[in-house]
Amino acid sequence: MAGLLIKNIGTLVSCDDNDTVYHDVNMLIEDGEIRYIGSDLKNADKVYDAKGMIMYPGLINSHHHLYQIFSRNLPQVQNMELFDWLTALYEIWKNLDKNVIRSTSLVGMGEFLKTGCTTCFDHHYVFPHGADLLIDTQFEAASELGIRMHASRGSMSLSKKDGGLPPDSVVQSLDEILADSQRLIETYHDSSRFSMRQVALAPCSPFSVTDDLMKQSAGLARQYGVRLHTHLAETKDEENYMIEKYGKRPLEVMQDLGWVGDDVWFAHGIYFNDEELDLLAQTKTGVAHCPISNMKLSSGIAKIPQMLSKGVPVGLAVDGSASNDGSNMLEEIRVAFLLHRLNSSNDAPSGYDMLKMATRGSASVLGRDDIGQLSVGYAGDAFMVSPDRIDLVGTQFDAKSMLGTVGLKGNVDTTIVGGEIVVDGGVLMNVDEDKVVADAKQTLEKFYQ
Ligand code: ZN
Repeated sequence: MAGLLIKNIGTLVSCDDNDTVYHDVNMLIEDGEIRYIGSDLKNADKVYDAKGMIMYPGLINSHHHLYQIFSRNLPQVQNMELFDWLTALYEIWKNLDKNVIRSTSLVGMGEFLKTGCTTCFDHHYVFPHGADLLIDTQFEAASELGIRMHASRGSMSLSKKDGGLPPDSVVQSLDEILADSQRLIETYHDSSRFSMRQVALAPCSPFSVTDDLMKQSAGLARQYGVRLHTHLAETKDEENYMIEKYGKRPLEVMQDLGWVGDDVWFAHGIYFNDEELDLLAQTKTGVAHCPISNMKLSSGIAKIPQMLSKGVPVGLAVDGSASNDGSNMLEEIRVAFLLHRLNSSNDAPSGYDMLKMATRGSASVLGRDDIGQLSVGYAGDAFMVSPDRIDLVGTQFDAKSMLGTVGLKGNVDTTIVGGEIVVDGGVLMNVDEDKVVADAKQTLEKFYQ
């Protein structure tokens, strides 16, 4: 790949080990990798004048369900909590197909890029009978946009008739799930440095899968060296379900199934007690924190200050679009900051802590040591914002915390993934945005016919 020199960066928030903030520097990216940050003007094939902009590391989303973009803002589920909300929505999601997946992937990941997110993790677990190649379609959409993608082969194998929550129409057999999981890992998983595509295995949640599926997914994942992900400790209802079914709390059940370790991360993690947080910290089992979804579904507040002080790896995430209802990590940073200020006062993480959760924290739960900070040797993933916006006047005192304390309203100006400019002037560069929107509206209409 050709080299890119980004010159005249006004402020560069690196999120490196020393929390370095550079002023008036240039950055050289070659072959997708940051090769230089400093005052020299290095030679490059392409030069981009940042004109005094503020640069941050590209944001990393650690939990999402892109397909839910077509079930946002549905009036019939707005006042529900998780179990009722899911039961109502399964009836809509059972009609998902490849066209819906393509549209929702382009729309969701397009919004991510426009709001500074350069790596998307998605948890897709609804595979209606006859709907094939859904994850393949997601990877294709990610490549078109130019975003780094971690997709997961989600799954549900325990339907209502066997004591689970989902209807028969969206569950699959163990063999079917494992065969497709293996196919996806072999086809797409790239573990090399600066990889653009990775695969994780992600049975949906304790109330929609069998123990056998959890154990065998863990075995398969470890055989290939891919990561494991699921929803856990999201609601009191889930905790009660587990205690009733197993006589044990959710994390203990996961431990019995081989689902604890530095290759595992859980979405939500609201109802962990102190001993459980210690176990997560000791084993480096991660958590994807999804504050907006947790607030919208009245699920609860994750103990983020305690997790951070104990050393639990924590990433930030938007969760699915039906409980967010969007794909905007900037909004998540701001809401996370405010929620924990309200809940924990002086013990709350700072605005900068929240930025680090959305960059380095998310990188760690995805198992990446090549993204999440702007340092030589790391991927050239970044976004930039002009400080000359009307909504940013008077905010120059602390660029590190600004995204949490002030928040960024609207889109970023520039997004770069692996040294490629994928958003410029707030507009997606690799796809025709108007066409993406028009096609999505058409597909949406058909979906609800
Ligand atoms: Zn979720």
